[in-house]
Amino acid sequence: MEKRLVYADFAATAVPSERALNKAMPYLKESFGNASGMYALGMRSARAVLDARKSIAASLGAKPEEIFFTSGGTESDNWAVRAAAESGARKGKRHLISSAVEHHAVINTLKDLETKGFTVTYLPVDKEGRLTAEQVREAITDDTALVSVMTANNEIGIIYPVDEIAEICRSRGVLFHTDAVQAVGHIPMDLSKLGADMVSLSGHKFGAMKGIGALYVRKGADIGSFMTGGAQESGRRAGTENVAAIVSMAEALAESIENMDAVNARLTVMRDRLIDGLTASIPDCFLNGGRENRLAGNVNLSVKGVDGESMLLMLDMMGIMASSGSACAVAQKDPSHVLLALGVDRKLAHGSLRLSLGCTTTDEEVDYMLERIPEAVSRLRALR
Ligand code: PLP
Repeated sequence: MEKRLVYADFAATAVPSERALNKAMPYLKESFGNASGMYALGMRSARAVLDARKSIAASLGAKPEEIFFTSGGTESDNWAVRAAAESGARKGKRHLISSAVEHHAVINTLKDLETKGFTVTYLPVDKEGRLTAEQVREAITDDTALVSVMTANNEIGIIYPVDEIAEICRSRGVLFHTDAVQAVGHIPMDLSKLGADMVSLSGHKFGAMKGIGALYVRKGADIGSFMTGGAQESGRRAGTENVAAIVSMAEALAESIENMDAVNARLTVMRDRLIDGLTASIPDCFLNGGRENRLAGNVNLSVKGVDGESMLLMLDMMGIMASSGSACAVAQKDPSHVLLALGVDRKLAHGSLRLSLGCTTTDEEVDYMLERIPEAVSRLRALR
């Protein structure tokens, strides 16, 4: 088979949307004014930010004044978790609840808070990667300040029952944050119905430029400001607005939502073809995470007797761009905390392969992966 280039790492970052980049470009060139400027060039930028905020709010069922632009998912998660912890501490509440499979942006923030007098309950997941709202209900105490559970997992693509969790938190008067970085633009999200107090999103996961995200903060939620400085973002997140990136995020989100049903229908078929094909043709190859409630573009496999890093290098030589664990965990040698939480054996967890598909993935690319990945595994196993 002729070598081709296959991008299968959409969960790390999506292929940028042409439509979003075209819309953003004027704000990098001729309309470069600071959105705080008291002249037409600046006002044009301010208008673009205002329009983008309205568009994003409309896309998510939020009010424009509930959307705060940040530098991305990591910042949004830090803001949400730290501000909620502070809010709790003011009321004498120092207990936080999360899951064992959160992104490091949440987990490492919680770890830091543990050194500052907070206690954290990390809810376990079952071997399919599932967690129930009932677990959250049982973990809440009178001392609980925050529940933070992701909407969809970045490694295994499992979607969590955040609507039920939000309802429980609401009834117990506990703040609820959800890291929806892998969900926004990929599954329907209506924040007017969800009932979460804070929701994190990140533009580059659905086709916008990198370095832009947002935190939704429900009107009335007791959440303090994050970055101190100028009066941007209603004085709650200071710093000159990244106008072009903000514009790109609004456009990419609108586009993703327009195409969501059609894209997901295609991706589901391609995902299942990959799962069925690879687990059948590679001996000792297992799917990580259940098939139910799984993002349409996520495939995560454990391959016995193969080191994940070597596999990625071999696949890269074949033109396939994939990942092992999460992109952010590449620099660390430890196996994925998500796979360990599922009960995957440590050695097996070292041989994990995540293929994440997106709107540009084609059937021919899936055919190519179905042919070349088993070949890569055989070659690596022969080297042992
Ligand atoms: N949360 C989740 C679930 C993610 O997948 C990521 C990125 O991989 C982040 C947070 C961090 O987002 P960003 O890259 O925008 O900082």
